[in-house]
Amino acid sequence: MTRAPGAPGVSVCVLGPSGRMGRAIIDSMPGRADVRLAAAVDRPDAPGVGAPVAGTTSGVLATSALEPAFEASDVYIDFTTPMATRHAAELAVAHRRAAVIGTTGLSTGDLDAIGALAQVAPVVVAANFSLGVNLLLGLARQAARALGPDWDAEVVETHHHHKRDAPSGTALAIARAIADGRGVDYDRVKRHTRDGDVGPRPPGEIGVSSVRGGDVVGEHTATFFGIGERVELAHRATSRSIFAVGALRAAAWVVGQPPGRYDMLDVLGLR
Ligand code: NAD
Repeated sequence: MTRAPGAPGVSVCVLGPSGRMGRAIIDSMPGRADVRLAAAVDRPDAPGVGAPVAGTTSGVLATSALEPAFEASDVYIDFTTPMATRHAAELAVAHRRAAVIGTTGLSTGDLDAIGALAQVAPVVVAANFSLGVNLLLGLARQAARALGPDWDAEVVETHHHHKRDAPSGTALAIARAIADGRGVDYDRVKRHTRDGDVGPRPPGEIGVSSVRGGDVVGEHTATFFGIGERVELAHRATSRSIFAVGALRAAAWVVGQPPGRYDMLDVLGLR
């Protein structure tokens, strides 16, 4: 595989083309002038490896070889698993390859590997690539600042029954935005589970709860409970294409940026 200089748009390597998000990203590419599919890399035993990527006329074959795919592309898009994301980031360092990373449930070690890549290449990392959710993050921060810690804040997220990590990365980002708005350290006030005799709710606590079922793409509600009133900020995703379109926009944006770690607020110019 070699890069095709002069072809329009940035050339993209999609990791996990057989996955729900990989599929949505590939399906969102036709008709776009800013991105084009250059490579697709999956687990060696994933369906479709060795065959042309379904649903495109690009002639790109799905393979399991990361390094030639990095060489063939300007940027890779990664919505896979924490282990695969860490491995890809480690290999991408030598290629100084730009990246768009949407995998959630990342550990500190995984984030360190991404941080090492961000030393040599531009990397967008976001727990949620939708415009609406990024707006919600800003609104939750603003609401927390305006209402103060006397209003009890709780975040509830609902996802499909295949989702592995809990709470969702987006719920954690919303909860952190609330802590930010209050000027407190999230790790000191968070509450992710309640079970048994947990006692009265401590003032200032920020709760996060997870619901799993069916085919729900993703729902998040931040509720601020006052005395005699409450405020709810909610986002409901009904199609994965919102994340795919955001990831492609991030891929077109990130190529050519200075090395560093960015998020969707940078991509959308909302910072
Ligand atoms: P999925 O299980 O449908 O797909 C995962 C894909 O990764 C599969 O194609 C699998 O074969 C592939 N994969 C696994 N190991 C690999 C490896 N070593 N090399 C290459 N590919 C490998 O999962 P999904 O629903 O598409 O979600 C993937 C991730 O994206 C999850 O962490 C999910 O939470 C996250 N997600 C993020 C956003 C966002 O906006 N940031 C939105 C939706 C999902």
